[in-house]
Amino acid sequence: MEAAAHTGDPFAPAAAAGIHRIAVPTPFAVGSVNVYLIDDDPLTLVDAGPNSGTSFDALERGIAALGHRLEDIELVVLTHQHIDHLGLVGLVAKRAGAEIAALDVAVPVVERFADEAEADDVFAGELMRRHGIGDEVVSALQSVSRAYRSWGAPAKVTRALRDGERLTLRDRSFEVQHRPGHSPTDTLFLDRERALLIGADHLLASISSNALISRPPAGSDQRPRPLITYLDSLRRTRELDLELVLPGHGDPITDHRALIDQRVGMHDQRADKLHGLIAERPRSAHELAQSLWGNIALTQAFLTLSEVLGHVDLLLEQDRVVEVERDGMVRFKAVGAPANGQQP
Ligand SMILES: [Zn+2]
Repeated sequence: MEAAAHTGDPFAPAAAAGIHRIAVPTPFAVGSVNVYLIDDDPLTLVDAGPNSGTSFDALERGIAALGHRLEDIELVVLTHQHIDHLGLVGLVAKRAGAEIAALDVAVPVVERFADEAEADDVFAGELMRRHGIGDEVVSALQSVSRAYRSWGAPAKVTRALRDGERLTLRDRSFEVQHRPGHSPTDTLFLDRERALLIGADHLLASISSNALISRPPAGSDQRPRPLITYLDSLRRTRELDLELVLPGHGDPITDHRALIDQRVGMHDQRADKLHGLIAERPRSAHELAQSLWGNIALTQAFLTLSEVLGHVDLLLEQDRVVEVERDGMVRFKAVGAPANGQQP
């Protein structure tokens, strides 16, 4: 870590371990995505960026600046299913003749990208209507989502990784750890010897990772509770002894426990705030989002719904609120509050 203090480059300790960050631009609000080149045998790329010419050029230049060619990549490892990480994986692997490794649960999502994205949109539409978002917003948001879809692309996974298995390169070995929450396929790569974790979007230094609601796995009709899943995952990560976490966006994290404690505290506070609003009168998730953030930008409607439902799930689990459904619409009611709540 001393090297970092000297050079001012927060990625210097990673580079000293042969892991080089390439910032690849994205068209999304999050800014650039961190792709990592692991200078090892096989020459490995972790994620690849979104599917666009601009991103591809930046990736190719970044690899060249590190003394390699994109065609030299032998293995591409995927951290999770989101398009800002996944989009170029298939193209890069094809150009380079590289293997693609991804967690087994990610394989169908990655290989049938378009069908999966379409099914996600249908699920999201139903969920939004059920929780109080109007039809116009739902269909507008689905057009936006379809437009965004071109930044993703399918890829053929040649090596399916299992949770707990080892991914061994010449100079290092990673433990593969499934840590769902931010997405259902979040995969961490842990180098215990170096106390180094490639964490992708599981834990970010400057912004709280969204625990986005996603479609339940085939065969389940339960709405997933991503924030509860995510908090469990964070607790597991907190137990690891780490010196460096390499995230999917922004700077590395050197004190993961303090950051995790801060995130957990923030989620508890937000749940309390929502409980206060629900105690005033029963409200839908969309009404709760409006109370918290006022007029919500169209493109943020699903994000804020995920955020609210995640925290309401915490309250449901603690038996502080109940879900009341009427005419296909869900409202949340505080436990012990009057049945019909006073409308202001
Ligand atoms: Zn992500």
